[in-house]
Amino acid sequence: MAATPERKDFAANKQMKAVMGKYFTEFSQGPAQGKKTAWCTSVGPAELLYAMGFNVFFPENHGAMLGASKMATDLIPLANAHGFSPDICSYLTSDIGSYLKNETPLQKMGLAGVPKADVLVFNTNQCRDVKDWFQWYARRWNVPCIGIHTPRGTTEVDDTVLDYVVRETEKLVEPLEQVAETKFDIDRLREVVDLSKQCTMLWKQVLKSATNVPSPITFFDGTIQMGPAVVLRGTQDAVDYYRVLVDELNQRIAQGVAAVEGERLRIYWEGMPIWGKLRDLSTQFLNLRTCVVASTYCNSWVFEDLDAADPFRSMARAYSSIFICRSDDFKEAYIARMVQEYRVDGILYHDAKTCPNNSNSRYELPVRLRERLGKPFLTINGDLNDLRLYSEEQARTNIEAFAEQLMQA
Ligand code: SF4
Repeated sequence: MAATPERKDFAANKQMKAVMGKYFTEFSQGPAQGKKTAWCTSVGPAELLYAMGFNVFFPENHGAMLGASKMATDLIPLANAHGFSPDICSYLTSDIGSYLKNETPLQKMGLAGVPKADVLVFNTNQCRDVKDWFQWYARRWNVPCIGIHTPRGTTEVDDTVLDYVVRETEKLVEPLEQVAETKFDIDRLREVVDLSKQCTMLWKQVLKSATNVPSPITFFDGTIQMGPAVVLRGTQDAVDYYRVLVDELNQRIAQGVAAVEGERLRIYWEGMPIWGKLRDLSTQFLNLRTCVVASTYCNSWVFEDLDAADPFRSMARAYSSIFICRSDDFKEAYIARMVQEYRVDGILYHDAKTCPNNSNSRYELPVRLRERLGKPFLTINGDLNDLRLYSEEQARTNIEAFAEQLMQA
């Protein structure tokens, strides 16, 4: 067997670690500085929370950390024993298990545990689970849980949807003022939305660099590099970081540096990452000289509609337009565009058992896209965090066979 091609880490990683480290440190310093903590869903109104001076904690990011550190599988049963079904979101069950056991990777960063929320703010644009999840903590800590209920399954995000979501978002301001003990300032919100827009456009450039052949970045890199776009959008730190990363990617492109040496195949990843197996999967694809060049997941934090001139309406449009809350017609057209733009040879669907919201292989979509594009697909069964639901051997064999099939196509 040929030697494994070299894995190419980014020089920017050091800076990312520093940026993320600073972000987490602020949670332990916040209370002493009179700073309140808001929990926010990953595609929730982060800009509003940053504009009102909160430290903003994203429990899904914590869920991903529990998955990537392989702690999740042992923690999920604790939440199951507490009444949460093993069939629901394994971010939720691993995070609640982590809280019940008081074990978290955050302790390695000097935090005592997850930062206690003064207020929890959700957006159901992605799923109902986030609201149930936040309500559990709200009951426990006796703090407010407020949020936005976004219509789902939309093909067009029209004025009816936007008027409603704008009202839902504006309704958050008064309770947030009470918790933050500060007055809402529209100009501050404009500044934060502007920073968020800059961050998002840079993040888009990062992902778009993979349209190059060979690609300078893989989906697996993207799952790590997306951290600041998720938790620090709306801050200068995220903008500064992505400028550095974009420069490095441009250098790679100019020098013809491939993320996967000898790239022969290009794959689209549809669905959630399998956090506890990122390393193994990226090694397998590296050995197959196959680059996973694009994904729905990493692109979910591109919010091009943000506009500082019209902060509430543009936030409503951005957060109601994300892939996960759209109709299958929209999703089919979106993936078809991505496959063409990224010059993809085949599509891999991850059917994540505990996240039906981010699993798009269940209603014939892959077959329709194969007929439309003539591109083969593979579905692997697994989960984002619960590794008991993932058969590694079977996935390995299927991925290998898929790559062979694509080579012969
Ligand atoms: S979208 Fe899926 S993974 Fe994300 S919080 Fe909802 S159920 Fe969990």
